[in-house]
Amino acid sequence: MPEAPKILTEHADCIDGVGGIIVENNNKALKFIEDVTRDADEVQNRVLSEILSRSANAEYLQRNGLNGCTDRETFKKVIPVISYEDLKPDIERIANGDTSPILCSQPISEFLTSSGTSAGERKLMPTIEEELDRRSLLYSLLMPVMNQFVPGLDKGKGMYFLFIKSEAKTPGGLVARPVLTSYYKSSHFKDRPYDPYTNYTSPNETILCLNSYQSMYAQLLCGLCQNKEVLRVGAVFASGFIRAIQFLEKHWSLLCRDIRSGNIHSKITDASVREAVLKILKPNSKLADFIEAECSKGSWKGIITRLWPNTKYIDVIVTGTMSQYIPTLDYYSNGLPLVCTMYASSECYFGINLNPLCKPSEVSYTLIPTMAYFEFLPVNGQKGLTGSNSEPASLNDKEKQELVDLVSVKLGQDYELVVTTYAGLYRYRVGDILRVAGFKNNAPQFNFICRKNVVLSIDSDKTDEVELHNAVKNAANQLLPFDASLIEYTSYADTSAIPGHYVLYWEISVNDATLIPASVFEDCCFTVEESLNSVYRQGRVWDKSIGPLEIKIVENGTFDKLMDFALSQGASINQYKTPRCVKYVPIIELLNSRVISSYFSPKCPRWTPGHKQWCSQN
Ligand code: AMP
Repeated sequence: MPEAPKILTEHADCIDGVGGIIVENNNKALKFIEDVTRDADEVQNRVLSEILSRSANAEYLQRNGLNGCTDRETFKKVIPVISYEDLKPDIERIANGDTSPILCSQPISEFLTSSGTSAGERKLMPTIEEELDRRSLLYSLLMPVMNQFVPGLDKGKGMYFLFIKSEAKTPGGLVARPVLTSYYKSSHFKDRPYDPYTNYTSPNETILCLNSYQSMYAQLLCGLCQNKEVLRVGAVFASGFIRAIQFLEKHWSLLCRDIRSGNIHSKITDASVREAVLKILKPNSKLADFIEAECSKGSWKGIITRLWPNTKYIDVIVTGTMSQYIPTLDYYSNGLPLVCTMYASSECYFGINLNPLCKPSEVSYTLIPTMAYFEFLPVNGQKGLTGSNSEPASLNDKEKQELVDLVSVKLGQDYELVVTTYAGLYRYRVGDILRVAGFKNNAPQFNFICRKNVVLSIDSDKTDEVELHNAVKNAANQLLPFDASLIEYTSYADTSAIPGHYVLYWEISVNDATLIPASVFEDCCFTVEESLNSVYRQGRVWDKSIGPLEIKIVENGTFDKLMDFALSQGASINQYKTPRCVKYVPIIELLNSRVISSYFSPKCPRWTPGHKQWCSQN
């Protein structure tokens, strides 16, 4: 992920030369990490008391009876542990234009739209202006850490594929957009001072172009033109980086034509993008020949190191559901290190990976204690993991007491992350399950285990079990006129081809399956897609990062075989439940071996930018 060392470079002008500035900044950043992790508990205490004293007049805190107290004990006693649904009425008031201090004493500057959804729509996370500084601070720590393991990264550029997405306006006039769109459009990113660590091949204009085709085309073109200078490549998530490589597979001959001629294709119509690219693009037939020769070879194995020969690593998140892309990345890069630098969300940026060259399976993130006040809900009771959307969000008094502070988590234990932020979230359940993997001084380091409830994910979509179930139920109704019904189902996120797609395995009860036309099953596929959340539909329609949903009809008795298999692996017959999502290869093989027919969604579902009820800005 790109970084913006704004805060730590503020006083850098007194150091001699760029090299001196870098060394000084790196040292400052590492010292900062050392200090805040050593004094983690004191820092957390200070953060909580700062948040509570600043927002003492916030209606939410008063409503819950905090009465201006800023100590942990009172806070934990009176403030409930909540989920998004609990906050929705307050969020709606803010969205509708109530500017009184409802959640936070500082004005809400915008909403960040989270990819975790609420009733099919993106969640709206309030944020305040100063959170941008906190995000910048976290970014500014990444390269000093990286530099300890891969020196010399200041001698070249980073080729990062970064994109913005569409925005909406709430009825009250606040902008609602994804956190990265907000960040890339902010002056923290756009007007960053020159820094060798934030020297990217993509000009800002190409990143800030809303048209995803033009943005991708221009960023690839610039990356190819500067291929020898590139020392690291990446995107935020693995899926985005693979999408760029796939785009290259489709469009390399056009790109080569532009490199040969020094002119950008007329399909790129955005004037600011054209102008920015033309500053970099010069006629270079030698480079065009080279790229053409590499891309027209039968195999694309190692294409990254072939086209960008000085690349030292790929900077993408491959933890969590993104781990499904590791084999593809290994193939394209001939096994370059995959580096996961940070862990963040719309609610708050959380932490960084202090050992970035470790294996993806060993990645752990050190939560930075200044970012927010962190608490942890132990999940050994399984409440966090198995609960559905309808699970009561608030915890009883005993469960509230069980929440553990940052420095008190236990090695090897799983927890659900709960945050209190400067922007007005108090004891908010993020929905991520983390496992303590170690400590940096007194600050714990966590493996990302999973997102609670999420069963399917291809890109930034996160589909939970309840949502999947409702979508399948809607679709299966279409079998009823044929005297057929759905007996069992499960699902699988198939990423063997790019873009990946959702696969549903259906076992149906029917007298004569041949009497059901293929179009009925295709309609079922489409109905499932229409019933899924807006992030999924955006992936299908706008980002094209998700392929058409597939239903595979399996032979009768397949789900009994699935149960037999689970029992043979030690599952208890009393507790056996059909898994609503499968990942284990032998199970997928078993299901695939019993497929009778398969159908794809024939068209894209409906999707419009912005929240359902608001007009979109773009
Ligand atoms: P959003 O709010 O849409 O930005 O999504 C944030 C969520 O993305 C987090 O709560 C995690 O579930 C997931 N996420 C973010 N960073 C990572 C990471 N490094 N590894 C795994 N999952 C991540």
